[in-house]
Amino acid sequence: MRSIAVLGSTGSIGTQAVEVAERLPGRLRVTALSAHQSGEMLARQARALGVVRACLTDLEAARSFQGLFADIGVELHEGPHGLVELIEAEPYDIVLNSMIGSAGLEPTCAALERGITLALANKESLVAGGRLVISTAKASGARIIPVDSEHSAIYQCLAGEDPSSVRRIILTASGGPFRMTSAEDLERVTVEDTLAHPTWSMGRKVTVDSATLMNKGLEVLEAHHLFSVDIDSVGVIVHPQSIVHSMVEMVDGSVLAQLGEPDMRVPIQYALTYPDRFSSPASFLSLAERGDLTFEEVDRVRFPCLGLACEAGRMGATYASALNAANEEAVSAFLGRRIRFTGIPAVVGRVLEGHRPLPGDTLEEIKSAEEDARRMAREIIDRTEGRK
Ligand code: MG
Repeated sequence: MRSIAVLGSTGSIGTQAVEVAERLPGRLRVTALSAHQSGEMLARQARALGVVRACLTDLEAARSFQGLFADIGVELHEGPHGLVELIEAEPYDIVLNSMIGSAGLEPTCAALERGITLALANKESLVAGGRLVISTAKASGARIIPVDSEHSAIYQCLAGEDPSSVRRIILTASGGPFRMTSAEDLERVTVEDTLAHPTWSMGRKVTVDSATLMNKGLEVLEAHHLFSVDIDSVGVIVHPQSIVHSMVEMVDGSVLAQLGEPDMRVPIQYALTYPDRFSSPASFLSLAERGDLTFEEVDRVRFPCLGLACEAGRMGATYASALNAANEEAVSAFLGRRIRFTGIPAVVGRVLEGHRPLPGDTLEEIKSAEEDARRMAREIIDRTEGRK
């Protein structure tokens, strides 16, 4: 029986992870949960699963829901540092990190420091602190199993392969809702247009990132760190049907791919039961029924976020931490209707230009680079809004 802590349990990946665990009783047991401020939902999950401890990372929410957790006999940890306490309190077999944003970096490091297997859905922690995360995992010998569908696909393709046999990684991208939208029309797309994503069901932040292709940019950086390949050896190809979840090109010319109906419960379950497989609630793929699978080049001019992420990765140091922090600010300004859709890459690009890099080998340096980037992004957003 594996004991699992689910961080970010009330979000899209978190709720699906809880469902996956409930379908495999006797193999998976959720023993701890965390959320940012959804106290009532977290308490409902905690009671249903019989967990011992939980954490609300928003201090105000933690205070107002304290009584609720006391009533059901669950120990409640509070605030961002409460997550680290929660991780240190029990001998979990797996920590599943499905938090949103670079707030996930500290708990990622806390789990890895203790040698706990990390099922990683929080790509921002690898983007913001890639080298730190990988070196922490190496030092303790902890395994990182990606939950992101693309990286899970690559992880599955590479099982049993020698890393030196890999020539290139090819990430597939659905292309998002604006794959066919002209550059001119992109200026006018609304929050509603953006949140209507065709294939995967996801949270708001990642849905916006999918529409700008920043999500794919973050995934390039994630793959670069996870699989130790150069940024320029990670390609991206648009595949609107989302059936081929990613590919690996080997030095002998073979291309390995992992396919399936798009259903996040599959990569989540694979990460939690690795290296074993069990039946899942996902539908089986019928290629004949699906018909054509198509592929096309990415338009990096209409979607500059992808190029910005690759550029940040090539520049190294804290450039990717700054890119990610600036993107979080820009996405939230877009969702708050303060900037346009095309303002997102504009803000990120200007923050990267003005970024004063630090080596980025410690949590403190990464946090400081992020704070600078957030401050600069907010200033740019304020000025942009004034001119709108
Ligand atoms: Mg993905």
